[in-house]
Amino acid sequence: MELGDLRRHHLSLVVEALAAEGPRSRAELAQGIGLTKATVSALVADLVDRGLVAEREARREGRMGRPGIDLELRSAHIGALGLEIRVDEVAACVVDLAGTVRSLHRRSGDNRRARPATVVDRLLGVARSALDDAAAQDVRSIGGALAVPGLVTTDGDALVVSPNLDWHEVVPSSLGAELGLELPVENEANLAALAELRHGVGRDLASFVLVSAGVGVGGALVLDRSLVRGFHGFACEVGHVVVDPSGPRCACGARGCLEAVVGRAADASPAVVADALGSALRSVVHLVDPEAVVLGGRLAEVPGLVAALAERLAVDTLGGRTHPCEVRTSTLGLDAALIGAATATLDDVVADPTTIPTAETSADDQQSA
Ligand SMILES: [Zn+2]
Repeated sequence: MELGDLRRHHLSLVVEALAAEGPRSRAELAQGIGLTKATVSALVADLVDRGLVAEREARREGRMGRPGIDLELRSAHIGALGLEIRVDEVAACVVDLAGTVRSLHRRSGDNRRARPATVVDRLLGVARSALDDAAAQDVRSIGGALAVPGLVTTDGDALVVSPNLDWHEVVPSSLGAELGLELPVENEANLAALAELRHGVGRDLASFVLVSAGVGVGGALVLDRSLVRGFHGFACEVGHVVVDPSGPRCACGARGCLEAVVGRAADASPAVVADALGSALRSVVHLVDPEAVVLGGRLAEVPGLVAALAERLAVDTLGGRTHPCEVRTSTLGLDAALIGAATATLDDVVADPTTIPTAETSADDQQSA
C-alpha cells in the first residue's frame, strides 16, 4: 500500500507533538494538531502498529470516574545505530528516541594501514555488540548511519575520498546488508554538527560553523537550524582553507591548509593554533555570518583558545566589534559524530514514521526471509 505524503506528514505531526509535549489523550492531540479526533485515532492506530506509540492509563488529578487513556511515544524502545570510522579506532553506539545513549562500543586499531575490508570487519564487530546490548535493554534499532572522515556524496552511498584513511572511492555498502539495516554514509563533521544542534552546545543556536580536529580538521555549517551540505555534499571543508601558502604540504596535495598547519602537529602551540584558526575562520565568518563558531575534537581542549579566537574574530572581521561571532566548545566531545549518526536516522523516523515497518509487514518479511 502506498501512503500519501499528507498521511506521512500527519503521522509526523503526531510523533512530534508527543515528543515535544509528552503523553496526552487522542482529543488533546487532535486539538493541538488541528485534525479531527477520528483522523487522529486512525493515525495513532498506525503508530501503535509500528511500535512507536503505546497507550497508558492517564493520571489526572481530581477527576472522578473511569480513568482516561493517554498516548505516549515509546522513546526508550526505539533506537538507531551510530557508527564511526576514525583513523585510530572504530566505534558504534545505539541512541534511543529520547536522545539517550543506550550502548557504546569502540575498538582501537590503525585504520590507515588496514584495507577497507578489514576496517569494515572491525566495525561490524562493534556494531553487533552495540545492537546486542541495546536489544537486551528492549531497544529495537530501526536503522543507522556511518560517519567517516572524508568527503561523501549527497546521495549517501559513496565515500568519495578520505586522504587521512588513504581511501579513494570506497563504498562500505556491504556493512548495512550484513547488519540487516539501511546504512547511509555521511561526513563525520556534518554528523557532529547535527548532534550538537539537537543535543549539544548548538541547541539554542540558529546558525553555527563547527570546526573539529582529530587527525584531520573537519568542518560543518548549520544555517536556520539545518545542515548545509552543498551541491555535492562537500560544503564547509574548513580544514582545507589555505592559511599559509608557503606552509607544509597537506594530505589533499595543497600547501598550507589549516589542517596541515594545526591538524597534524599535535604539539602545535595554542598561539599557532589560534592564529591559523583565526585566519581560516575570518574568511568563513565574512562569507556566512554565523551566530557562533563551535570548536570540537582536540580543539575543545586547547587552553585559552576560545578567548584568543573570539578576540581575533572581533578584531579581524567587519562588524566583529559591534556584532561579534561567539566562540563555544562542543559539549558532546569526541563522540559527537557517532551520536550524530544515530540522530540523523532518528530524525528521519520522526519526519516519516512509515520508515518503521508495521507489525504485519515485519511478520511478512520474516516469513519470506
Ligand atoms: Zn588540504
